[in-house]
Amino acid sequence: MKSRAPLAGHRGEADPLNSSKKRAENAQKPGEWGRAWSVDLLSMLAVLFVLCCCPVLPIYYYISCTDYQCELSTPITKLVGGDVTLTQLWQHVPSVTAKAAALYAIWFTFQVILWYLPDVCHYIIPGYRGGVCLGAVTPAGNRLSYGVNGLQAWIISNALFLANAFHFRWFSPTIIVDNYGPLLIMANIMGYSVSIFAMVKAYLFPSFKSDRKFSGNFLYDFLMGIEFNPRIGKWFDFKLFYNGRPGIVAWTIINMSYAWKQYELHGHLTNSMVLVNGLQAIYVVDFFWNEAWYLNTIDMHHDHFGFMLGWGDSVWLPTMYTLQGFFLVFNPVQLSQAAAGGVLFLGLSGYYIFRAVNHQKDSFRRSDGQATVWGSKPKYMKVEYYSSDNKKRQSKLLLSGWWGIARHMNYTGDLMGSLAYCLACGVTHLHPYFYIIFMTILLVHRCVRDEHRCKAKYGSAWDEYTAKVPYRLIPMLF
Ligand code: NDP
Repeated sequence: MKSRAPLAGHRGEADPLNSSKKRAENAQKPGEWGRAWSVDLLSMLAVLFVLCCCPVLPIYYYISCTDYQCELSTPITKLVGGDVTLTQLWQHVPSVTAKAAALYAIWFTFQVILWYLPDVCHYIIPGYRGGVCLGAVTPAGNRLSYGVNGLQAWIISNALFLANAFHFRWFSPTIIVDNYGPLLIMANIMGYSVSIFAMVKAYLFPSFKSDRKFSGNFLYDFLMGIEFNPRIGKWFDFKLFYNGRPGIVAWTIINMSYAWKQYELHGHLTNSMVLVNGLQAIYVVDFFWNEAWYLNTIDMHHDHFGFMLGWGDSVWLPTMYTLQGFFLVFNPVQLSQAAAGGVLFLGLSGYYIFRAVNHQKDSFRRSDGQATVWGSKPKYMKVEYYSSDNKKRQSKLLLSGWWGIARHMNYTGDLMGSLAYCLACGVTHLHPYFYIIFMTILLVHRCVRDEHRCKAKYGSAWDEYTAKVPYRLIPMLF
């Protein structure tokens, strides 16, 4: 899942923002299959667009819901029509309160404490992989250990929230939605601070010098990151921490807060809110259950840590990934039984495909091609690549099962699930559909840039592979 994050979409391996000419040049150089080494004008414009526009969107969404009932176009049309001035609109931008600052600080500190706790879940939950796990080989040839305990952190955090709601009553379960605006600003302060810190750290005290990349362009490096695996000490890994906590741990808690708020405001809980909470909770639990697998996703083994991940995971993820629940607080939608059943079916089938595809590649790679796929011995291609220390290394590309149908069926499943969350909100507003628009751009873009990276990494063997599996997301179509 992603970072999942915002800009997770732009999290960049094979030079996501760079031109194809540049990529082709890069593709010739052994070992240079990570993110961009140089930046052209088009990339620069994209960087400026992301840095200027993305931070505004969560605030705009917040204003459109709290002041205009989630009518997405209303603030803009009122501004253009002269009904409100920019100054009046600006007055709706939230500011920090002492309460929100304290809440955010407590939440963040709590997540750091949970990060350092040794994992107990892998001792007591059969089939769960946690504790110390190895990541993939980095472009410079390093291989790091990670303390995987996200499931434990999620269980403790969510259990405490529920215990509070039903038993202790330390605070209202609607605390997040009640302090949404100031918390959004706190999340921005965190997002910007960690991105600036990551930039300074990369120059002054990098964790792994040989895995840094400098494009020579300050803004590009700020956005896409310089250090590949920034760490504090041996265990505090910025990428894994920010990707999963505090954002994804909070996702289900934020959704529960929306559900309580809907109940408080309207006196009942709609089936759409239950669906959104349920389907997204499956996605979140899946993420933590498979955190060890996540170490082998593009996010972890190709993306560098900069604004894209630091700000994206701190701000974009907890706000834009939870926008359906926020919408339903203001616009309670009760779906017919047939519509609810359809949304549930779409959401669960999307999840099934997403998980099955990811699982197939993971077990194939972990067993070095020995695990069966759909009951048979898998077909695969042996491929070679160079790490930046110029060592020749080997890998395998799976040709059987889901990976023989299309090259990214996991993204297709993810998109089906994302569409289900949006459809749960009915079809009256554009607001909740931003998510599927964003996810489609994110995953199609991700698919294309991943393939550029794979081409740069594996050379002509990648062309042979794409000839054998010609479609990306939808067989016969794309
Ligand atoms: P994949 O898990 O599809 O990994 C792509 C990598 O897999 C390639 O770079 C290549 O890496 C390897 N690979 C490609 N083809 C094959 C093959 N045939 N056999 C074996 N290995 C192959 O992509 P992601 O890491 O992007 O995504 C992981 C999951 O996370 C997806 O399900 C995606 O939907 C989800 N996600 C969700 C997001 C969200 O925000 N909700 C955001 C991003 C991802 P190598 O160099 O190892 O060969």
